[in-house]
Amino acid sequence: MIEIQGLKKSFGKLEVLKNISFTVERGDVVAIIGSSGSGKSTILRCLINLEQIDGGTVTVDGEPMIEDGRYVPPAEVKKITAKMGMVFQSFNLFPHMTVRQNLMMPAMTVKKMPKGEALEECIKLLDKVGLADKIDAYPSKLSGGQKQRVEIARSLMMKPEIILFDEPTSALDPELTGEVLAVMKQLAQEHMTMIVVTHEMAFAREVANKVLFMHDGEILESGTPEQIFGNPQEVRTREFLRSIF
Ligand code: ADP
Ligand code: MG
Repeated sequence: MIEIQGLKKSFGKLEVLKNISFTVERGDVVAIIGSSGSGKSTILRCLINLEQIDGGTVTVDGEPMIEDGRYVPPAEVKKITAKMGMVFQSFNLFPHMTVRQNLMMPAMTVKKMPKGEALEECIKLLDKVGLADKIDAYPSKLSGGQKQRVEIARSLMMKPEIILFDEPTSALDPELTGEVLAVMKQLAQEHMTMIVVTHEMAFAREVANKVLFMHDGEILESGTPEQIFGNPQEVRTREFLRSIF
């Protein structure tokens, strides 16, 4: 589904991603773990073209987005990034719109979804994330956990083939993380392809089938959750896991 080869990204002199390579198969749940500042968010932001990549090759669904450091034409890039949804750490709902409007507006404007279909999808997806009764609420009336579940529903409105999550629960009070992780786990069980940057090691261990450990702009170690959590090979991985448990 996604193939990343030799991805490089710098901010000025700071080399943030050094030589990132990994693949994501359809239905994979890939967890990216690692200390703050190691480059996890930048990988996701590069994938959805929020950051310009400096080098490497990224192929999505067999179509290159950037090949040996050269981007395909912007219209092609847009078509490729449209296959990806993203849920951020912070809340990005429009505060002056109800939940219904937040979900329907992007689908109708960007995806040109007819209004009737958009409403039908909106109702279906709010039901899926357990928020059918909040359809007419404004974001300010929702808890952080509810907002993140609306964000997930909103990203599903665009019918993505993969969803990228950037620490979706790290801004939440601990008692609210469970409800968001439960929705993500359900998506995984429905075989949604996902890349999840997370500090929730229990979630990564249980739900992911691949784990990447990032350190200082590199993937230092990758493997199954059993390998990474049960038998990490690198000293840095062991140190990181010790610091977080
Ligand atoms: P993580 O998500 O693992 O905490 P990030 O990908 O956010 O790490 O950041 C990796 C490094 O890149 C950090 O050193 C951060 O300060 C730097 N960085 C991220 N975004 C920018 C930016 N827009 N400009 C300059 N430096 C940045
Ligand atoms: Mg980050």
